[in-house]
Amino acid sequence: MDNDSLAQRDRRVLWHPCTQMRDHETLPPIPIRCGQGVWLEDFNGKRYLDAISSWWVNLFGHANPRINAAIQNQLQNLEHVILAGFTHEPVVRLSERLIEIAPRGLAHCFYASDGSAALEIALKMSFHYWQNRGEKKRTRFINLANSYHGETLGALSVGDVALYKETYKPLLLEPIAVKSPDCYHRESGESWADYSTRTFADMERALEQYAGEVCAVVVEPLVQCAGSMRMYDPVYLKLLRQACDKYRVHLIADEIAVGFGRTGTMFACEQAGITPDLLCLGKGLTGGYLPLSACLTTDEIYQAFYAEYNARKAFLHSHSYTGNPLACSAALATLDIFRDDDVLNRNRKLVTHMARATAALAEHPHVAEVRQTGMILAMEMVKDRKTREPFPWQERRGLAVYRHALEQGALLRPLGDVIYFMPPYVITSEEIDFLAQVAREGIEAATRGD
Ligand SMILES: *Cc1c(COP(=O)(O)O)cnc(C)c1O
Repeated sequence: MDNDSLAQRDRRVLWHPCTQMRDHETLPPIPIRCGQGVWLEDFNGKRYLDAISSWWVNLFGHANPRINAAIQNQLQNLEHVILAGFTHEPVVRLSERLIEIAPRGLAHCFYASDGSAALEIALKMSFHYWQNRGEKKRTRFINLANSYHGETLGALSVGDVALYKETYKPLLLEPIAVKSPDCYHRESGESWADYSTRTFADMERALEQYAGEVCAVVVEPLVQCAGSMRMYDPVYLKLLRQACDKYRVHLIADEIAVGFGRTGTMFACEQAGITPDLLCLGKGLTGGYLPLSACLTTDEIYQAFYAEYNARKAFLHSHSYTGNPLACSAALATLDIFRDDDVLNRNRKLVTHMARATAALAEHPHVAEVRQTGMILAMEMVKDRKTREPFPWQERRGLAVYRHALEQGALLRPLGDVIYFMPPYVITSEEIDFLAQVAREGIEAATRGD
């Protein structure tokens, strides 16, 4: 087996996610033979540092011995069982553990496989709660500009990244979009907290105007990841929690990308000291091993569905692989690693090192901003640093950085012209230095002559 033959067979039968397939005529997909820690290896023996945790899912490296063992162990007993009418130990234990570590007040776990499905559950659950309570006029959602919540129609509806959404507009729900607290747009000299506080006025207005017809506000706490890794201050979440209470609408926190330590705390909501009414988890939940997502909610919401069967209040949503035991065992092993290895504390050193290794890039003539929240660091490449004028998107400068990084042995997959690191937590300082060097050379290669 070699790279070329597998890539050729691939092109005959596959259709890849988030890809213009024609691009593969010039840049074929890279067949990966194996992974170890932060490294991926292709069939020619070339290695790539997985700087984006394989789409933000991997936390403790590829082929992690402890997660491998947990899955193998579970495999001896039970690979899967229907979760309606039946249950099993891994799903009960995982639910107990999640409720233990999640923001206080979340009391019940509903499972699905992908993150998008967790969003669908949160949206339906919130809507259905108000139906069960007799508030039938509540049919709408408030979302943030530049947000991302997945690709299924409901999740896509409450997102706001035009690239993914525009085509499907006629099929979608129409949320009430408010200004994002995204601090890239703050005035020079203005603090993140001041800017995020200032933008909250728009949210407050929307809540005031629409509260009676709104089920929930849905946000990605602290970092709008797919929306170019834009970041904001925790104060916004604090204000939002207060306002949602005041206007009696639910708060849905989508921590699918930022949960499990990405922002420095276990969950991003902790930095604001708040509890959402619905919390969506996915991606890192299984350490990057198996598809599993969850929607956690409060007892207050749960009780609105708890009734005699004939009252027809039950939440009849389901997915075939809900609560899969293998996925739950991977999640339990992942939570064990967090507990046993003091991961969040140890990550602090890596967080500081990422900042230090990229500090010089903040002065680069084609970098408008280097921003960071915990284990997420992003560099915004622009045409003109002073005016922040972007490069025309058709020039695909980010793609040039991607290609350069691959040659050098790093998997960086920029979002447009935003280059970012979101590495597994087992990365070393030396490997971070290597990534910083690849990013700098990549930006130089992509902007040479401008
Ligand atoms: C990735 C992501 C989703 C969707 O999860 P999938 O598993 O890709 O369906 C939803 N919300 C956020 C914030 C995400 O980053």
